[in-house]
Amino acid sequence: MNITEIWTRTISEIRGKVSDSDYSSWFSRLRFDSEKNGCVTLNVPSAFFRDGFESKYRSLVESTLTEISGKPMTVKLVIKKDSDGSKGGSVNTSAAATAVKEAADKLKEQKPVREKKNSSDCQLNPAYTFDSFVPGENSNFAYSAAMAIAKNPGSVYNPCLLYGGVGLGKTHLLQSIGNYIQQNSNIKIMYATTENFTHDFIQSINDKTQSQFQKKYRKVSVLLMDDIQFLQKKEGIQSELFNTFNDLYDTGRQIVFTSDRPVEELRDISDRLRSRFERGLCIDIQPPDYETRIAILKAKCAEKNFTISSDVLEYIAKNISSNVRALESCITKLIAYSTLLNKDISLETAKEQLKQIINSNNDTSGITLDFIIRSTAQYFNVSPFDIKGKSRGQSIIIPRQIAMYLCRTLTDYSTNEIASEFGGKNHTTVIYYVQKVSSLIQADDAETINTVTKLTNLIKQEMKRN
Ligand code: ADP
Ligand code: MG
Repeated sequence: MNITEIWTRTISEIRGKVSDSDYSSWFSRLRFDSEKNGCVTLNVPSAFFRDGFESKYRSLVESTLTEISGKPMTVKLVIKKDSDGSKGGSVNTSAAATAVKEAADKLKEQKPVREKKNSSDCQLNPAYTFDSFVPGENSNFAYSAAMAIAKNPGSVYNPCLLYGGVGLGKTHLLQSIGNYIQQNSNIKIMYATTENFTHDFIQSINDKTQSQFQKKYRKVSVLLMDDIQFLQKKEGIQSELFNTFNDLYDTGRQIVFTSDRPVEELRDISDRLRSRFERGLCIDIQPPDYETRIAILKAKCAEKNFTISSDVLEYIAKNISSNVRALESCITKLIAYSTLLNKDISLETAKEQLKQIINSNNDTSGITLDFIIRSTAQYFNVSPFDIKGKSRGQSIIIPRQIAMYLCRTLTDYSTNEIASEFGGKNHTTVIYYVQKVSSLIQADDAETINTVTKLTNLIKQEMKRN
């Protein structure tokens, strides 16, 4: 990667981390100048700007540059009057001074997130145990594998990847492995999120403590690493993880990862790291079915010593289907309501109190037809152009009918509107295809159900993220 590319990626990464107003106050007025031996020179419009930027964002820029390039990078700020890019306008110094003061005040109140996050806080949540996990059809395999790993680390299922949508218990299971091992042996374990790992790596480069970093991650018998999807696009970190992985794997130590998607759907992951992930056992966790949801709700009530009537539990289980965390939130909210107001919870009260959680969980507003078509195309590895086109080849007909079905079920667009999005087809074609998928689902066609569920979850998750 050349430096221009590294800088562009750095800026786009930062854009996702800071507020829009900070971005336009600080980053839109920053100009890349040059780079020499890992030192990036940036032009800034004024001394006020330089000082404010220095205290507020310099370390974020340096660590992001380091993270993306995989090499230690520093930043030098040089005042260049016209670097602000505002044509003909001089820098409004009083506004800049106010911004600097605000930045300094904010800094006094709160340390930057990156500093706060001490990576050795890899402590496990003691509540995440195998006992408190309710397995169902959707998670039996993952549950049993996690248990087998905990009982015999390094010998079975190594490495292991648990993947599935948000709030389905990946972190819970991963930490259950850690808690179990800690309670039953002296084996040294390490639980870290990909963010912890990244943070530690950057810190070690900045502090020149790389050997400590390596010791921390490589002198363990079990490495539990959460949310590897966040490694996407970060080549420097990927390469470090690759080395850590090899070191552990070659000496028979256990590695368990989680991810919100299967390995083949991780984008911008180097081939060599991908092949390491694929080497092991990959198990998915699906959303729980209705009976499991009821069982989870009951378990959560029992944990909190609280009784909620079955009609209320059924109402929750019917309305929230794809996220255990949301099921949990409903219980927490009802318990708080009942305890604080000293009232029993009727079905009516529950409906009123849970309106927001249920609506936001089922929120499909904002999903566009184009987005569904692109996601479906990506899933099937075909082009969106072909999905919308006229080809009748078998390999394109299935993605096309699934995309139409998702457009109909996930949005409020009419069949006419959908037909026009699909290259101006007749709306009866849309009705025909949608019915075809519906009847396959009704006939329990496993492949169709699987594809539709996976794509629906992916699309909803991606929408939530954006
Ligand atoms: P993920 O890491 O997949 O996003 P988490 O592991 O953080 O999800 O789970 C979200 C919440 O739901 C946690 O509080 C967890 O304890 C709970 N949870 C998830 N699945 C189950 C389950 N099968 N049984 C009991 N609790 C669960
Ligand atoms: Mg998690």
